[in-house]
Amino acid sequence: MKPRIAVVGGGWAGLAAAVAAVQRGAQVSLFEMAPTLGGRARSTAPKHPGAPALDNGQHILIGAYSATLDLMRTVGVDPEQVLLRRPLSLVNAHGQGLRLPQGPALIALTRGVLSHPAWTGPERLALLARSGVWALRGFRCDPRLSVAELCRGMAPALRRDLIDPLCVAALNTPADQASAEVFLRVLRDALFSGPGAADLLLPKAPLAELLPHPAQRWLEQHGATITLGQRVEALGALSTADAPGADGIILACSALEAARLTQDIAPTWSREAAAFGYEPIVTVNLQAHGLDGRPLNLAAPMVQLPEHTEAQPNPAQFVFDQGQIQGQPGRFSFVISGAAPWVERGQAATLAAIQAQAEALWPGARLAVESYVAEKRATFRCTPGLHRPAARPDPRLSPRLVVAGDYIEGPYPATLEGAVRSGQAAAHALV
Ligand SMILES: Cc1cc2nc3c(=O)[nH]c(=O)nc-3n(C[C@H](O)[C@H](O)[C@H](O)COP(=O)(O)OP(=O)(O)OC[C@H]3O[C@@H](n4cnc5c(N)ncnc54)[C@H](O)[C@@H]3O)c2cc1C
Repeated sequence: MKPRIAVVGGGWAGLAAAVAAVQRGAQVSLFEMAPTLGGRARSTAPKHPGAPALDNGQHILIGAYSATLDLMRTVGVDPEQVLLRRPLSLVNAHGQGLRLPQGPALIALTRGVLSHPAWTGPERLALLARSGVWALRGFRCDPRLSVAELCRGMAPALRRDLIDPLCVAALNTPADQASAEVFLRVLRDALFSGPGAADLLLPKAPLAELLPHPAQRWLEQHGATITLGQRVEALGALSTADAPGADGIILACSALEAARLTQDIAPTWSREAAAFGYEPIVTVNLQAHGLDGRPLNLAAPMVQLPEHTEAQPNPAQFVFDQGQIQGQPGRFSFVISGAAPWVERGQAATLAAIQAQAEALWPGARLAVESYVAEKRATFRCTPGLHRPAARPDPRLSPRLVVAGDYIEGPYPATLEGAVRSGQAAAHALV
């Protein structure tokens, strides 16, 4: 008889867990409290017919996300069709900055750094030397270090143009608060795990079409049941009423919900899961047209914006040209990572500052804000020495309970790849 597995939560971790459990021969029942699958990487239905589906936030994948890309293929999605692949580039609105050419990572990095137009010769050499030292140390460091401490002594231009934007984009935590250990791990995977690992993969399709909808179809075709709009209130109720006699439970809900559901059976674990700090991400989508009505564009699909200063508030670190990415000319997504201060200032102040950033990009343009999405708990704050809960809350008392999610102990910051890997690991542990 097939083992029966209940999966709580239909984000990317829950979907990865469900697919992996089915592949291992389990009968899967998945419960999602929202009306749609996808969790923190989801699309909502268009506001009116013909309007684009609205994602809850711009997502970037990289070539090193091997588990995620394989999972997409398993459920019938060709990543090359739904993702725009470009060699890593961190360029400004004039198209100037770091551009990694194609080819083996080390050579590409060296060539990219040596041809950076804004860095002096000594700055370029210092960066290569520093990267060499990190590589020689196996991209490991004292876990108590912050990224700012790791990069102490580095030229301000290197911090401003490379380290700080990369850190806040990858860890959603400012460099002075972010874990150097996790940052180095991301660098290692992106830059040193084979050709194409550092490539940026930008969604050409709504997030729902990257995984949630195809995974739903695949799971249903393979006999799994998916119940939407049902919040699991208690684990006891789950194993008796909704999935009678489940042989195993994979908790793939948020850390706070997992903490609530386990507070009686694994109180220590539950306290750890409840203890995270969170960092918001704000995405502002707007339309930008010239005075002649023609849609505007940018020098690259993803453009780095000038740094934020007190004198010149620049909330968004990056802007994405959806004309180049999703075939929607004139539509742009401004992304504020590490957005706590802006969420505090409020929507009106944030929108005004974003409009000012857009006006600086396209003086005199006609701008129309389309949407403002603030995900208050977008990711956990990835700080030095952060203790992340293990996948098994209590192996002795509840051997058939495994937890999955981007926050579970692991090498990655809160990412799609971390979520997918932890979901797959949970299924492998149970089935
Ligand atoms: C705006 C934004 C931008 C991001 N950008 C990137 C990026 O560029 N690259 C990247 O890799 N990552 C990015 N991330 C992070 C990424 O989205 C997450 O790491 C990932 O989606 C987490 O997946 P998860 O399955 O672990 O958790 P979640 O997506 O939170 O899934 C948990 C699910 O469980 C459900 N649930 C909770 N409680 C219950 C319950 N009691 N019963 C039933 N269901 C329940 C929830 O509704 C949810 O669907 C971004 C996140 C945000 C918000």
